[in-house]
Amino acid sequence: SLSSISDQDLILPPDVTVDGLRAALVEMSEIVGSNNVKVYTKATMKPDKDGQYFNLPKEHDLFYVLEKDEFLASAVVSPGSVEEVSGIVKLANKYLVPLWPCSMGRNLGGLRGSVVVDMGARMNKVLNVSERDCTCLLEPGVSYFELYDYLQKNGHENLWIDSPDLGGGSVVGNALDRGAGYTPYGEHFSMHCGMEVVLPNGKVMRTGMGALPDSNTWQTFQYGFGPYPDGLFTQSNFGIVTKMGFWLMPDPGGYQAYLFSFQNDSDLPAIVEYVRQLRIGMVIQNAPTIRNTLIDAAVYAPKSEYTNSKEVLGDAEIDLIAKKIGVGRWNIYGAMYGPKPMRDLQWEALKATFMQIPGASYEFPQPRAEGAKQTVLHMREETLKGIPNTYELGWLDWTCPRGSLLGFSPISPATGVDANKQYQMVRKRFLEFGFDYIGTFVVGWRELHHIVCLTFDKTNPDERRRAHRCIELLIDDAAKEGYGEYRTHLCFMDQIASVYNWGDGSSLKFNEQLKDSLDPNGILAPGKSGVWPARLRGRGFEI
Ligand code: ADP
Repeated sequence: SLSSISDQDLILPPDVTVDGLRAALVEMSEIVGSNNVKVYTKATMKPDKDGQYFNLPKEHDLFYVLEKDEFLASAVVSPGSVEEVSGIVKLANKYLVPLWPCSMGRNLGGLRGSVVVDMGARMNKVLNVSERDCTCLLEPGVSYFELYDYLQKNGHENLWIDSPDLGGGSVVGNALDRGAGYTPYGEHFSMHCGMEVVLPNGKVMRTGMGALPDSNTWQTFQYGFGPYPDGLFTQSNFGIVTKMGFWLMPDPGGYQAYLFSFQNDSDLPAIVEYVRQLRIGMVIQNAPTIRNTLIDAAVYAPKSEYTNSKEVLGDAEIDLIAKKIGVGRWNIYGAMYGPKPMRDLQWEALKATFMQIPGASYEFPQPRAEGAKQTVLHMREETLKGIPNTYELGWLDWTCPRGSLLGFSPISPATGVDANKQYQMVRKRFLEFGFDYIGTFVVGWRELHHIVCLTFDKTNPDERRRAHRCIELLIDDAAKEGYGEYRTHLCFMDQIASVYNWGDGSSLKFNEQLKDSLDPNGILAPGKSGVWPARLRGRGFEI
């Protein structure tokens, strides 16, 4: 508890004294109850051997790239209601203590000494589901697993959800970070409808139709009246979201997952050209993934199961692995949604298109005999239907047990030329820094998300440095070609914000102006997405 921790062990945020932090935490305990405030020191950070996907540290980043305590929180506070969140925010203003909100804490880390506001710990209810409108209203602590279970157990089996690759995250947190999944409702922010937000001054606001006191359309019409602020609360530090509405897809009346495999590394450009046209034309109804061999290999087993080599794998070795696990060098995992006559028409178009690529083949998931191996296609069959799972955690262990993940995800035009340029750019840097390229290309609507998964051993400081430097260089390589990342780890936020600098940095300046007006004391997630408040700006806290 707070009183047993010595002054020098407390993790002080900037501009806050020992007495200030103690007073703030005591008063926060009076609001949320003392068992909902946990104070941390360097000695009590969760040990690496304990921290894992289903036992997350809340006080520091699970996949730290810099030093483990670089983004260490002074305390974690778990509010149980909107009123408690508002009370904590008011105290933060009084004591200038920075707050770092999270829903589940899978993408954690903030300015050192911040108080993490763990929104998911106690605010984890499904508040409403409408069968008629196919909508729901959620608190931040509801995970994809929990929402799925809730719908199944409460007679809403006809309502689908849309889960990203891993189902343990928060539905609200993922949409606020502009994450995505793989059903036709996969673009999570565009499928949200209405928010309730605690602003940095502690006042509570509802967006869209929720601004109308007797609203009966908060979850059915996104915009309401006047400027549309919802986007300002994504990847931002302008508010703490306490409720969020979502649209749910009704069971489309039929479903079929499929896999197209392509034998040659050089097939990528042709595949991307075809996917763009089918996707924009809405023949493909969702965002299919174009995965390389090694991402599938990593789902099945670590690298050591395939080879004795500790070097970056070359084309001949990757070809052998592709043969061994029965996939191509590139693989489209997709699905069709709707009754059979609709799917049959769609399938004819897909088959006629992709089978033009020499060496292409296709398959559908087959029923598994008792004890038979589950293939990546079986796994994607669930994911593409929105059923939450954690199969893809396998990636992490590619080069070491309990490995870490650093994502690099630039956006480009969905063309063959750009896909290839990106692929070569990343492979070259990965070879230079000693990492195998594990990646996937996803055509969202019109753009290409390139999702690169750098897996590393966080317990090895040299590997952390190499991982960090590699991505740092790639951010600049990409920017030179006009590509920018859509999401990132905390340690790259300032760099990425700095490359989005058209018009003398007008975008960042606009965000800073909003920040200073909404959060004059600079207490909410300072530095998130490169947006620092006036109080802390230019004082050397940028990373
Ligand atoms: P996940 O759901 O993947 O575990 P996190 O809880 O780590 O995601 O949230 C990702 C990021 O989104 C956090 O670092 C935080 O900046 C922001 N965030 C998450 N939940 C909220 C919320 N309820 N209000 C405001 N920002 C949030």
